[in-house]
Amino acid sequence: NKIALQQTERVRLIGEMAASVAHEIRNPLTVVKGFVHILKNEENLTDKQKSSLKLMDSELERAEKIITDYLSLAKSEKKNATEIDIREIIKNTADVVEPYALMNGTTITNCVDSPYYVRGNASDLGQVFLNLFKNGIEAIDGKGTITVNAVKNGDVVEITICDTGRGMSEEEIKRLGTPFYTTKDQGTGMGTMLCYKIIDNLNGQIKVKSTRGEGTAFNISLPLCKKQK
Ligand code: ADP
Ligand code: MG
Repeated sequence: NKIALQQTERVRLIGEMAASVAHEIRNPLTVVKGFVHILKNEENLTDKQKSSLKLMDSELERAEKIITDYLSLAKSEKKNATEIDIREIIKNTADVVEPYALMNGTTITNCVDSPYYVRGNASDLGQVFLNLFKNGIEAIDGKGTITVNAVKNGDVVEITICDTGRGMSEEEIKRLGTPFYTTKDQGTGMGTMLCYKIIDNLNGQIKVKSTRGEGTAFNISLPLCKKQK
């Protein structure tokens, strides 16, 4: 599949860049943040100065959020891989995200009821599902459902995460995984890039099917490890 391959290349390059840049940017950010806090405590500030400082602070926070996402991306090279049960990761992540889902009118239906063992890092894979669940929840206006399934297909496990959200156009699907691509006011546009990168590190694949107004399905395939076979 040609599109999937191109995205993998791109994600790899982005990861390398992230590793070298993220740390360097965080240091000056911390310094500026410190000075903004000092200025905020000055007496006799005009209203204009106060609101400017407030804006500076929130924009710095936004920049930090982006850097934090970048750093977790850079760190996600093949570290501490162990044999882990995908079912367990999905269950834990669904539990963590449950309050956020309920708050937004989304029901998460987890149909994964047998173990699937893959080699990987538990917290990285947790990040993948967390990001996909969050995106699903945020794509649903009003009430909706996210359904998770997993099946064994030869040497791989295929996990599907379907939402009944607003869906994406062909153009939007192509931009998925591009850093800073977001359609949300508070978005960082890092979530799917992180997912692609982590799955790529585990020699897996992500495919997306989406229809505007109907919903989106993410299909992740990961190689099963010896314990399973
Ligand atoms: P963010 O969530 O910060 O915007 P992501 O990389 O996670 O960044 O997602 C990028 C964009 O892709 C989102 O802003 C949204 O427009 C689109 N998107 C991602 N997942 C879904 C989904 N399940 N349904 C509809 N659109 C989605
Ligand atoms: Mg997201």
